[in-house]
Amino acid sequence: MSREDYVSNFVRNTLGLPIGYDFGLSSSDMNTIAEYLSGSKSPERVFDAPVNSVLNTIKSEILDERLGSGKPFVRKALWPEGVDFASALTHDADRLTAPLSRVMKVRKRFSLSLMIKRILSLDDPYWNIEKMVNLEAGLNFTSSFYLLVHDYNLNGRRDYIKSIAAKGWDVGLHGSFGTHESAERMREDFSVFEKETGEKPKGIREHYLKFDPSKTWQIMEDLGFMYDTTWGFNQKPGFRAGVCFPYHPPSSDFEPLNILELPLVLMDTSLWGYMHLQEEEGFAEVEQAISKVKEHNGLFTILWHQEALQMKGGRLYPRILKRLAGENCFVSNAEKIAEWWLSRERSELRESKRGKSFSYTVQPKDKRLVIDADCPKGYKLKVQGECRVISSSENSAEIAGNGEGKITIEVP
Ligand SMILES: [Zn+2]
Repeated sequence: MSREDYVSNFVRNTLGLPIGYDFGLSSSDMNTIAEYLSGSKSPERVFDAPVNSVLNTIKSEILDERLGSGKPFVRKALWPEGVDFASALTHDADRLTAPLSRVMKVRKRFSLSLMIKRILSLDDPYWNIEKMVNLEAGLNFTSSFYLLVHDYNLNGRRDYIKSIAAKGWDVGLHGSFGTHESAERMREDFSVFEKETGEKPKGIREHYLKFDPSKTWQIMEDLGFMYDTTWGFNQKPGFRAGVCFPYHPPSSDFEPLNILELPLVLMDTSLWGYMHLQEEEGFAEVEQAISKVKEHNGLFTILWHQEALQMKGGRLYPRILKRLAGENCFVSNAEKIAEWWLSRERSELRESKRGKSFSYTVQPKDKRLVIDADCPKGYKLKVQGECRVISSSENSAEIAGNGEGKITIEVP
């Protein structure tokens, strides 16, 4: 595939355009997308999203062209049920417990009551997976946990980990040092994970976000990972890929890889270790990241280390969950978000035209998929079969439940 085809594919996919739709692509747009998605370039300023900007420009050009010539502009909505944005809740597990001597050394991170419980062996500040799962379950959320199986075994926690996986939580690999540049090291971690959990890992995040765009995706691809969620900044929140949507990174000759990148937007340790923020400032940073992602209808991937849940007073992660619960947002684990993105990608939206009548079908069907339509004023909308109009105004409509159904838009 040429670089141009790779970029066109990405644009078509992300905007959810019907099959065969044509759009213009300037060479500077093409360069921007190719450079950022291949990881050879990253934005200087926090929350700059040059790839999103290109997508927005192309989208408004198509809209102008279509409406200008009296045609509707119909495409697949980004997220299930047409919600505003999505959030992937993820946790690295750098350790699952810590000896008392270690806890004593960093005791300032924890409350006095928690320290007393630790000394009496009533609680373990470094074992929080259960607490996180309970918090998330209370809001009907699930999340992803990445296990650093190179550094510890699951011992007495194996059954618990298997039980949460059975309940819909995503358990993936936290790749140890060196795996990002060595296929052999990666294979070792992969097989240890399989031995420890009885399953092959589908998702991965690299320890310390170590990553070499010219190697790491390919190493992961060769082992069949479904997604990676490493590509983000260590020092600050932001859009390292210049985009806040999932995407297929390119191979060295610009073939789209099967693996999906879910770019990381915010990591807890950036707030404390790199930016030295206080609790409220940290929350303000999270708020800002959420609103930036929401502006783009994008994906807010957040990393909160399992061992850090009870640090800094332990209030922040529950507060973030509550904040997300109040949004019109698809909150889930990274695997479910990757599955959604792939399902949306496989759903082919077809347009056919007869006179002033434009018809649309989608195959195969995903009940959660919503179709967005911008239409010339005076349009008439007809839905058949399993389609249902969610909302409509004088120049737009939102339609759900496609698949067996058909959408017809008659323009004046
Ligand atoms: Zn780590």
